[in-house]
Amino acid sequence: MSTRIWPYLACVFMIAGGILACSGAPPEFDAARAMKDLVAQCDFGPRPPGSAAHDSCRVFLVERLRTLADTVIEQRFAHYDSLRSRSLTMTNIIARFGGDGKRRMLCAHWDTRPIAEHDPDSSRQHEPILGANDGASGVAVLLEMARLFSLKPPPTPVEIVLFDGEDYGPPGRLDLYLLGSQFFSRQARPADYEFAVLLDMVGDADLRLGPEEYSRRFAPELIDLIWSAAEKLGITEFDRHARYSLFDDHIPLLQVGIPAVDIIDFDYPPWHTHADTPDKCSAESLEKVGRVLVEVLYNRP
Ligand SMILES: [Zn+2]
Repeated sequence: MSTRIWPYLACVFMIAGGILACSGAPPEFDAARAMKDLVAQCDFGPRPPGSAAHDSCRVFLVERLRTLADTVIEQRFAHYDSLRSRSLTMTNIIARFGGDGKRRMLCAHWDTRPIAEHDPDSSRQHEPILGANDGASGVAVLLEMARLFSLKPPPTPVEIVLFDGEDYGPPGRLDLYLLGSQFFSRQARPADYEFAVLLDMVGDADLRLGPEEYSRRFAPELIDLIWSAAEKLGITEFDRHARYSLFDDHIPLLQVGIPAVDIIDFDYPPWHTHADTPDKCSAESLEKVGRVLVEVLYNRP
């Protein structure tokens, strides 16, 4: 009896699978997978440029993206750190999906900060931070987005860019931050991009994401696209009333003429301390950001 039922059931599943594959519904963002990828990055330890953990994490990210994307590029650049008297190689990781044409960029920084200047224990302020939220959270959301793009290509081409060297600068030296996005922007052809959406510190369990000021001033239509998508989904953590002005990886992109928005929750007490650990983050927060990106990328071409 069972031997006759199985072929029949397999046929039903194949038909159901076919309907799913052909339907217009985008694939679903898997929050548990994203959270696992946040923890996986933290398991390497702090990941400041020049460390062994930074290199291991780079290999992990490149290998993962190679299984998912059409094209993966490691964009290397040299940086001489005059304060610490050492030469470093940094790497932006670029992954492309969905064919040729003007691209929509999703980006985040994958490096973590080499110091913890806000840690209450002054004896540990010179040590690198784990960067669960400030580093791993944005990348975790983008790895899950990459998985969705591999299941169903987005209707318009998408480029995921993981910037290196975002958080390398010492306090007060803004020119020594955003090293990867500065290098990337010097090489990029702005006309190749429709827009860029930056994720930074999006994993806070107590999430509130307001339209960052420079983004609002220089990319108001993109702000409206994202926050209206969140409103349609009823995701109230995207709150048009929360306001910050931040110097982040979207600034070099804006400077070369790519409309760019920074999605960030800067109200995060463990910022630049050793308390920036996975337990301060939640799968639910990553999911909220991911669902908004799915709506924007798949349903608003
Ligand atoms: Zn930071």
